[in-house]
Amino acid sequence: MSTAQHQPVIQLTDARKTYRTGEIEFEALRGIDCEISEGEYVAIVGPSGSGKSTLMNILGCLDVLTTGSYVLAGEDVEQLDEDALAAVRNKRIGFVFQQFNLLPSLSALANVELPLVYARVAPNERKRRALAALARVGLADKAPNRPGELSGGQQQRVAIARALVTEPTILLADEPTGNLDSTSTEDILAVFDELNREGRTIVLITHEHEVAERAGTIYNVTDGHFVDGTTHLTHMAVVAE
Ligand code: ADP
Ligand code: MG
Repeated sequence: MSTAQHQPVIQLTDARKTYRTGEIEFEALRGIDCEISEGEYVAIVGPSGSGKSTLMNILGCLDVLTTGSYVLAGEDVEQLDEDALAAVRNKRIGFVFQQFNLLPSLSALANVELPLVYARVAPNERKRRALAALARVGLADKAPNRPGELSGGQQQRVAIARALVTEPTILLADEPTGNLDSTSTEDILAVFDELNREGRTIVLITHEHEVAERAGTIYNVTDGHFVDGTTHLTHMAVVAE
């Protein structure tokens, strides 16, 4: 059985990012090389300030490298203008953030439908797909509820459904369990496990080693570069058989 495929979906080569604040320069990414295959579940783990969110912004096409190359699904992202970058982002990437980022006045269903509104999908189709995405995260029965009526873990599951509804190539999650208690953290990690078993590529950013250990591959980042100790856990080998 093979759910994992082996096309590289992300290729970073000597990726560097320098922020400029007035006269001051800060090199947040200092030469990262990384290849992520379709179907892989990767965790990027490191302390606060090590460059994880910077890397996520690059991978998610929210920002561009200062030097180096980023090839996403065969496309050289560094060559794209802003509109083309936004198009790639909308098509390829599903984002999950620590702060859920749901709109409080909208139902769970309407929150999940939003990316499809922007993509000009017809209302019936939107509703059908949003309900299916909510069902995938186990929340079909919460479709009419607003975020304030849901637990933190349920809100994060709605956010995951919203990230999935456009069928992105990659799910990028930045500290998705950072605001959750241990039970809700387990719920969210179980959803990621399931999505990865279905063949979804996941990049999970965290400062918590216990969370990172759910992934097949762990990259340790310190001061803007990957350090030794990248781990390919055994269950990845099982998935790939
Ligand atoms: P992490 O997510 O691992 O906590 P970040 O990627 O957010 O780390 O930040 C890495 C480093 O880059 C930090 O020292 C941070 O202060 C700096 N940094 C992040 N964003 C900016 C910015 N927009 N301008 C200047 N410095 C930044
Ligand atoms: Mg961060």
